[in-house]
Amino acid sequence: MFGSEKNKECPSCALEVAGDEEVCPYCGYEFPPEQKGLAVMAWIFLLLILLWLFTRL
Ligand SMILES: [Zn+2]
Repeated sequence: MFGSEKNKECPSCALEVAGDEEVCPYCGYEFPPEQKGLAVMAWIFLLLILLWLFTRL
């Protein structure tokens, strides 16, 4: 085992899965994306506000 590797527990089958896995190799559970999705949502929200401001001019 390497110290740099982070394992996470699958909430579906409760087995340990490598931290960089997006899908559980045992049961196929898809792990929800972390923070990346939030950043994208924030950018979309910002763009929508800018668009709304421009359309009001
Ligand atoms: Zn699983």
